[in-house]
Amino acid sequence: MSLENDTTEIRRLIEAGHKKGLFKPATPEQLTAREDEQSAEIRAKVAAYTQGREGPPWVGHEPGICPVCGSDNLEWGDDEKEGEHLFYEFTCGDCNSSGSELYRMEYIDTEVKAEGINP
Ligand SMILES: [Zn+2]
Repeated sequence: MSLENDTTEIRRLIEAGHKKGLFKPATPEQLTAREDEQSAEIRAKVAAYTQGREGPPWVGHEPGICPVCGSDNLEWGDDEKEGEHLFYEFTCGDCNSSGSELYRMEYIDTEVKAEGINP
């Protein structure tokens, strides 16, 4: 058997496999399952990395906590609305870093405070 014969044989087997439908593309369900698996893996890695860490180097951002030094001694400044988002400005009382917390606004309900009468 020469390398050329081997290659030809392998090619023939692959073509035969395609004809028999042995090599099928993944279904959308299989792809979604793979993506879910991958994102679960990433979440697990991030959780393992951030677990048991205290103080600097601060990993992750939490509301009410300075992302630079981990202090909750924040002084709040102006809040600014931009479209569907709300920014709360802060200055850290411990390390003097400043920034803003970003919130997304979501419609919940409409409340009637006083019902008017149609003229
Ligand atoms: Zn700070």
